[in-house]
Amino acid sequence: MSRILTGRVVIATHNPGKLAEMTELLEPFGVETVSAGELGLPEPDETGTMFAENASIKARAAARASGLPAFSDDSGVCVEALDGAPGLFSARWAGPEKDFAAAMGRIEDELARRGASSSAARRAHFVSALVVAWPDGHEELFEGRIHGELVWPPRGGRGFGYDPMFLPEGHDRTFGEMSSEEKHGIDWQSPAPQPLSHRARAFLALSQACLRPGG
Ligand code: IMP
Repeated sequence: MSRILTGRVVIATHNPGKLAEMTELLEPFGVETVSAGELGLPEPDETGTMFAENASIKARAAARASGLPAFSDDSGVCVEALDGAPGLFSARWAGPEKDFAAAMGRIEDELARRGASSSAARRAHFVSALVVAWPDGHEELFEGRIHGELVWPPRGGRGFGYDPMFLPEGHDRTFGEMSSEEKHGIDWQSPAPQPLSHRARAFLALSQACLRPGG
C-alpha cells in the first residue's frame, strides 16, 4: 500500500525547467509546494549509477534537511547509437554554463561521426525516475519513458534541455515546439489519461498511488 502525499512538499530540484513541470503536474492535487532553492537546500552529489538511485539521493537529502516530504526527478536522454549516452550525464554534457545548444551539438557530432542519418539510427528515449521521500525514511519510486528520434537542427524554443531535438514517436513536432500541456499530454478529466512525456508517464503512476484529487 503506497503512502498518500498531503500538505507541504519540497520539490527537490534546482533545475528551473523541471521545477516548472513538476509544480504544474502537482497543481491539481492541492499540495502546497516549495522548491529546494527557496529553502536554500544544497544540491547533493548525484553519485548513483541509475536514474532511480539519483532521484532517491535528491529526495532523501531534501526530506532530511527540511523535515517535509520531498519529490524529486532524475532524468535524461539516452541515445541508442551512442550506447545510451548521455543518459545519467545529460545535465553534465551541458557543462557548468548549462549550455544545451552545445550539448545538442555534441550529440549531433557524435551521431555524424557514426554516420547515423536515418530515423532508425537516430533513435533515443527520455527516462524519468520520480521519488517521493518522507523524513521518516519511507520512499516511493515511479519510472516513465518515451521513445522517439533526434532531429537536426533543433526545432522550437519551448521546454528545456534537449526538448528541441526530441521528436516523440507518432508526433510531427518536437517537445521544443509543444506547450507544456501538450508535452505532459495528461487530460485529468479523462477516465484514462494518456500521458506523453517520460515525466508525465511517471507522474501519472505516482498520482494514482500517492495523490488524491484536490489534496
Ligand atoms: P538531472 O536529472 O538533474 O541529472 O538532469 C537531467 C537532464 O536531462 C536535464 O538537465 C536535461 O538536460 C535532461 N532532461 C531531462 N528531462 C528532460 C526533458 O523533459 N526535456 C529535455 N531535457 C530533459
